[in-house]
Amino acid sequence: MRQSLGLVSLVVRDYDEAIAFFVDRLGFRLVEDTCVPEQDKRWVVVSPPGAVESRLLLARASSPGQAARIGAQTGGRVFLFLHTDDFWRDYEAYRAKGVVFVREPKTETYGTVAVFRDLYGNLWDLLQPTAGYLARRHAEDIPSKRPQAGAVPRRAAECSCGQLGLVAEGEPLRVSICHCLACQRRSGSAFAVQARFPAQAVAIRGRSHQYVRTGDEGGSCRFHFCPECGTTVYFVPDSIPDVVSVPVGVFADPGFPPPQVSVYEVRRHAWVGLPGDIGHID
Ligand SMILES: [Zn+2]
Ligand SMILES: [Zn+2]
Repeated sequence: MRQSLGLVSLVVRDYDEAIAFFVDRLGFRLVEDTCVPEQDKRWVVVSPPGAVESRLLLARASSPGQAARIGAQTGGRVFLFLHTDDFWRDYEAYRAKGVVFVREPKTETYGTVAVFRDLYGNLWDLLQPTAGYLARRHAEDIPSKRPQAGAVPRRAAECSCGQLGLVAEGEPLRVSICHCLACQRRSGSAFAVQARFPAQAVAIRGRSHQYVRTGDEGGSCRFHFCPECGTTVYFVPDSIPDVVSVPVGVFADPGFPPPQVSVYEVRRHAWVGLPGDIGHID
């Protein structure tokens, strides 16, 4: 199951002044501005630049009760948290456009943060989270880690063309990142990330061809790839046949649990950064 918050309503006094603030000052994208004449309103949606799912509905107050909430949607607590990949770029740009910061920038364990007011007085965090903070948040976001009675995660993976796929039940035994040259060749990337599952927890469908790779310690590993598109969907080390490894990318799930260990770092590309709390194996 996958859900997301599609829209959050921000109560505004006037559509155009709100659009001017979010689009012209904050650089948000105007996703939709549609008249709904029968209800005498407009459907106005804005989204932070580069964001995929986070969208704000700029909703004009249409009663005295709603008007009283303009700018005070959370009674003085920070209302919305705007994450960025470059705090100082945005902080300077916002100040240059007259955005008022009510708390100065601070470096916290979880990132660099400052608090600004929107045009009505709602408080916003501008936050550049640290990589470690993001990794932990994502790990906590996996629904299966919440205490849900009897909920066992089932994650589906498949090749580029969809012919070869699998479903893995339960949490992975281990997620690792490998920098070795063989994994770089196999994945076509600068490193490989893979998750191990107990073999009996993995149901495979479709046809695969195998490539057997012999490691420098003499052990071999069977890589199963789609004969149509070439994607490796799983592999099995001969030394641990009761385990199936799945390249994390074939799950196409940015919320997948992060790696706990990093292997063969002597071959790591110098620019590759790793979460601070990761384990290291040579
Ligand atoms: Zn395929
Ligand atoms: Zn490797």
